[in-house]
This record gives sequence, C-alpha cells and structure tokens, in this order.
Amino acid sequence: MTLAQPSLTQPSPTQPAVVQTGLTGRTSALDDAQAQLAEAAAALGYDEGLHTMLAKPRRELTVTIPLRRDDGSMQVLTGYRVQHNISRGPAKGGLRYSPHVTLDEVRALAMWMTWKCALLDVPYGGAKGGIALDPRQYSIGELERVTRRYTSEILPIIGPQQDIQAPDIGTDERTMAWIMDTYSVSQGHTVPGIVTGKPLSLGGSLGRASATSRGVVHIAKAALHSLGIRVDGSTAAIQGFGKVGRDAARFLADEGARVVAVSDQYGAIHRAAGLDIHALGAHVDTTGSVVGFGSADELEAADLLELDVDLLVPAAVEGVIHEGNAASIRARIIVEGANGPTSRAADAILASHGVLVAPDILANAGGVIVSYFEWVQANQSYRWQARDVEARLEERMLAAWAAVNEHARAHELTLRAAATRLAVARVTEAHRLRGLYP
Ligand code: GLU
Repeated sequence: MTLAQPSLTQPSPTQPAVVQTGLTGRTSALDDAQAQLAEAAAALGYDEGLHTMLAKPRRELTVTIPLRRDDGSMQVLTGYRVQHNISRGPAKGGLRYSPHVTLDEVRALAMWMTWKCALLDVPYGGAKGGIALDPRQYSIGELERVTRRYTSEILPIIGPQQDIQAPDIGTDERTMAWIMDTYSVSQGHTVPGIVTGKPLSLGGSLGRASATSRGVVHIAKAALHSLGIRVDGSTAAIQGFGKVGRDAARFLADEGARVVAVSDQYGAIHRAAGLDIHALGAHVDTTGSVVGFGSADELEAADLLELDVDLLVPAAVEGVIHEGNAASIRARIIVEGANGPTSRAADAILASHGVLVAPDILANAGGVIVSYFEWVQANQSYRWQARDVEARLEERMLAAWAAVNEHARAHELTLRAAATRLAVARVTEAHRLRGLYP
C-alpha cells in the first residue's frame, strides 16, 4: 500500500533529533477557539444560553486503550472523541496521533471543524479525535492494535451517518483502512462511509490526499491576487513538510512561486534563489527530513516564520505564531494550512501590522471538502474523475473566499472574524430551524 506521506515510517538512523519550535508564549488552542466564538456570539447578539450551547461539545468520550506491545508488555494509552456540534449533519473530523494530544486540544479542534464545515457549506457538524502517543515510537503492528482497540471503544458513537473520521497529524490512509475494517467487522458488512481519506482501492477519492494542499494554494493565489502580487515570482516560506505543507510547496512551485524556506520537526532549510521542491521531496523520502538537503542553508526553525516573504504558510501545529513572535513577522500574507497556528494575541498584532491572515477554517478546508466528496461517492458507490473532484474543490474554496472577503469588507473585520461569524450564524440557523427538543 502506498502511504500518502511518510509520517508513520520508522526513524532512519540518519534522521536528526526532533526540535521543538515556536512553542513558547502560546495560549491554549481551546482558549483561542473559545475567544473567537465569544467575539462572534457577541457581534451576532446571542444571549448567554445560545452562546453556551455553541461553546460546549455536544458529546465527548474518553477511552482507555490497553496495548499489547511487541515485547509482550502492556501499555495503557488514552484516547478521545469529541463531537462538538451536529446541528447541520453528522459529526466530521480527523483523528490525531501525537504526544501533545489532550482533551482540551481535541475540544478546540472539534469546534473548528464545526465552523469549517459550516463555512464551506458541507452538510456536517464538527468532531475530532486523538490519542496521546508518538506514532514514531511504535511498530506498524502496535499502531494497528491501538487503532482497532480505539475504534472498538468508540463504536457506540460513530457511524457513517453519525460520526466520520479522517486522517490528521500522525495518521494516514492506512489508519483509515484499519478503522473501516474494524467497524465493518462489527457490522458484518463493509461500510466505506465510516471514514474518509481511505486508500483508493478501498473506496477513497481521487484527489483526497492532496486536497488540503490544493485548497491552501487556491486561497494563497486568491490572497496574493487581492494584494496585487503575481503568483509567478512571489516568495513563500512553509512551516511543516507533511500532509499539508509538502504538496502546498509543490503546487506553489509549480505555479512559479519561489519557495525559499521549508521546515519540519527536525529543522529548517533556506535558499534565497528558491528550493527545488521536487528534489527536496526525494531527499525527504530517503532521509525522513528536510534537513541536509543539497545546497540549502540550515535555518533556525523559529526564524522561518520571520522571513521577509510574500507568503507564509504555517502547516504544522497550533499556536506557533504567538504574542512573542507576531510583531517580527514580515510576510505580507499568512495562509493557515494548520489548524489554529495563530494565537488570539498574535491575531491582533498581525491585524495592526496589516498582515493579511487567511484563517484555518477557510484556508485548510480543502481536506474536509474532498472528504465530503469521498463520502458522497461511497454513498453513491460511484467514483468521480480526478478533474471533477478538483474542479468542485476549487469552486467551493473560491466561493467561500469571496463570501468571507465580502463580509469582512462590509463589516470592517479581519478575515478570521468574518469567517467565524458566517460559520457560527449558519450553525445557529440550523439549530433554530430544528428547534430545541423537548
Ligand atoms: N483533519 C483534517 C482537518 O483538520 C480533515 C478532516 C476531515 O476530512 O474530516 O480539516
């Protein structure tokens, strides 16, 4: 089976040690998410009851996952699934494997999924799951056992019409195949609609693996265009070279942008004349990291965020742009490939400095859009052509970009405030139409 990206490969002997970057001075993702909602709720004139209902997850499940390790010992892990809101449809959102996973982080990510699905008008609520583990420390067999046990523990709340998972940090199409198989065995028949981001041979969609990156690049191009900057010859720095950053770098380079710096969790590299992204991809496939690539210079990973470029794409984790570094950012545009990369305090600083921020719930929505297409294809038992997937993805991304910009202009808001208000209002409309039971 081909993996979408090498996130689950074992570390190679040449792979450098992981460095923690940009994590100082961060507020929690949940604080940021709650503050964004509070601002939208106040602006929309919501009373406390409605605001509180939107602030609280509809349902959350914490599960204990006993794992038999390859050496015969038992380790006990903790997993979460949070369904933030289901007013507009089934809960939808990724599954994250990372040592930093906490229930609060999953709550924040689930809330952002609700707004993302509403903003892009896909008929889903929002959810997220996570297991606190570093997948690089486990064999493939161990990861399979963890995934199957987690799936079996959350069985009561998932289903193709209830809650549909997808890849996120540390998980991939193979993880989705295990979930689909575990769920299908429990039902006695194959249920392709239980997950998205599946391997193509199990009913995955053409264009799903690169969908988030494609969406990021549609928004990046629209943002550059809105500031009168030509894509061809523009400069870009990309933080993260995984599921989102890697293909975003490739698509930007294909459009003629000069990608001058990229980083991963092991370090950062810089080349003023532009990096050869295709050759870099081959280097990463062999060594497991961007570090040590050809003629590129090494760069402090935190310094990548402060380069003088047209476009900065944070495509890794939450909170990397914070109060401590926001004033030093020189990029003219930030397109958030990651979920929650910019803290609330940083948002205000960036706005006062005139940096255009295309927010996560808009910029990285390509993934869940094509997840929705994959689920529709599963329901239809029919595969769409790649060109249909890509055309419909672009159409939805650009429609949302236009709607958010129009709202931002009309009400003199940042794109994030505009996007959040639009999304929150849509969820509320669905809630009002359905009414409160009983
Ligand atoms: N994990 C991705 C996200 O954060 C995709 C979610 C999905 O496709 O359900 O948007």
